[in-house]
Amino acid sequence: MPTQKSKLGKVRNRVSPQEWQTRVDLAACCRLIDLYGMSDMLGNNVTARVPGESGHLLINPLGLLYDEVTASSVVKIDMDGNIVSDEPSGYGVNQAGFVIHGAMHQARQDVNCVIHTHTPAGMAVSALECGLLPVVQNSMRFGSVAYHDFNGLSLDVAEQTVLMAALGEADVMILRNHGLLAMGNSIAAAFDTIYRLELVCKVQMAVLSTDEKMRRMPEAVIEDTKAMYKKYVIPRAGLLEWPALLRKLDRTDSSYRN
Ligand SMILES: [Zn+2]
Repeated sequence: MPTQKSKLGKVRNRVSPQEWQTRVDLAACCRLIDLYGMSDMLGNNVTARVPGESGHLLINPLGLLYDEVTASSVVKIDMDGNIVSDEPSGYGVNQAGFVIHGAMHQARQDVNCVIHTHTPAGMAVSALECGLLPVVQNSMRFGSVAYHDFNGLSLDVAEQTVLMAALGEADVMILRNHGLLAMGNSIAAAFDTIYRLELVCKVQMAVLSTDEKMRRMPEAVIEDTKAMYKKYVIPRAGLLEWPALLRKLDRTDSSYRN
């Protein structure tokens, strides 16, 4: 396996400035997912389209913890899950990651980044028949949630057809009895979405774990609030947050940029 040092510079010189920036952002995204307690050892994936290269995705390498991912170690694959051979990183990819993420990218051209997590709160909500509930204000950020029933480990590309049909126009999908997916038109937007989805899953499980009856809001208020989020908040998802999050990473460890 090549060392990070041996790869440093080589990948950057070989790719477009736009691809390099996407690699930096994807590595930062992995670091942030870990920083905020949403990683699952070597599991899970973050994928992003390669700007200007139709049919190519970037994905975190199999075998690195999220807090080890760097821009150079990110792997480029095609829509069939094959590693693009002209930029060998030395790392493999998670086949199940490709099946799920590939389906999301193929279903919607506006989806430039997909994030998948297996957090306790996310998996707990995924196991509830009721799904995501409008528990608090932040929950109503998620006006459109797609659901996908569990059908075993996602190793068969045949499952992509079902996943693509389930997505619709949603920017989040709850994989039932499994975990969470967040989609975005940028890495910044997708991270903002998974962060906020994780937060409301935690709140929901906290509320459901009490013996008190949950206060339900009027349906009209719920729908109005969802509409306001859709109009005023979601279009700006991550725009202000992302630069601040990168500054936060850079204050302690900027090696994701290597
Ligand atoms: Zn999973």
